[in-house]
Amino acid sequence: MNTLLIKNVLLSGRKTNILVKGNRFENLDAPSDTVVDNVLDGEGTAILPSFFNTHTHAAMSLLRGYADDMPLDKWLTEYIWPFENKMTALDIRNGSELAVREMIASGTTFFSDMYFDIQETIDIVQKYGIRAAIGITFVESHSKSEQKDKLDMLENWVDPTGGRIMLTVAPHAVYTVSSELFVKCADVARQHNLKIHVHLSETEKEVTDCKAQHGLTPVRYLDNLGVLGPNVIAAHVVHIDEEEAEILAERGVTVAHCPCSNMKLSSGHLNYALLEKAGCRVTIGTDGACSSNNLDMREAMKFAALLAKDRSGNPQLMSAEDAFRIATRNGAEAFGIDAGAIEKGKLADAVLVDMNNIKMQPCHNLISNWVYSADSSAISHVLCDGKIIL
Ligand SMILES: [Zn+2]
Repeated sequence: MNTLLIKNVLLSGRKTNILVKGNRFENLDAPSDTVVDNVLDGEGTAILPSFFNTHTHAAMSLLRGYADDMPLDKWLTEYIWPFENKMTALDIRNGSELAVREMIASGTTFFSDMYFDIQETIDIVQKYGIRAAIGITFVESHSKSEQKDKLDMLENWVDPTGGRIMLTVAPHAVYTVSSELFVKCADVARQHNLKIHVHLSETEKEVTDCKAQHGLTPVRYLDNLGVLGPNVIAAHVVHIDEEEAEILAERGVTVAHCPCSNMKLSSGHLNYALLEKAGCRVTIGTDGACSSNNLDMREAMKFAALLAKDRSGNPQLMSAEDAFRIATRNGAEAFGIDAGAIEKGKLADAVLVDMNNIKMQPCHNLISNWVYSADSSAISHVLCDGKIIL
């Protein structure tokens, strides 16, 4: 098994040598003369868990800056969908490559994606050594034969990386997927033990339309259909009431909070206090680069913390420690990935942060600097699955 020794790196304020064996942390206090295959000089850096981006559309990086400063409905129907109708498989590959390179450079080692021509994205994930949950998107407008092809792909799926890629079932949203198709998606996910990735309660219009069509809010509607459960990762979840927060928590649903996308599209503001009180697991996503306009999880983490405080008038809400855990460990847990912490036995996914970077100085509190002050220029190395990928 391949071994790597990260020498003289700061872990929880103490300089140490970290041994990685295969794809896991083997020893967090290894002797400096341990015989290994590779040595990484960590002098002047601190090791932290890498980011888990729980909601994005990687290939949309190709649409970065294409349609700014407009509401979601107009943005989707007049700009995004017409553009996407012209995208080829090669475009998806190029967009995914741009996205994956940006994510790695900004300290992300996992992303949960929802798009089409997914084999292109899978190839890029495999090539760059990152992790991903690739959504098989279901929308009503796809033909029956397209839907069948997707179900066949699920049936015959073998992860080419031996553990870094999982598929998810991704019914797009309540306004693009019928109740029959939602029920079918939930059945397929149960049958194959897969996560469900869905947009939920993103805008006021979605809620109003759902109530008019089904007599229920989107959360109650999906709950009535039996879709909600611990395998569901719901993106946005901006427009909910207290009872809906409790429903989500009771069903074990994970929320993928996308603060930058929500603010830019004026979709509304996630009520973190409500979700926290209900005991709902919150994670962070960037959403696609056409609404956020980058895939920088560190930036999204900072915005999440600031937004929680600003909306609640409570500066203690979502502390730096909370925001950091939400952006790292919570995301890993939501997808059942044994990572998100620098601990013996955990999968070795991590960033090395350059403590001499100007935004990391002085260092009264490492996590405070990382959440509130730094940018990705402070990242010196990124590890995923025990390998140095940056
Ligand atoms: Zn989205």
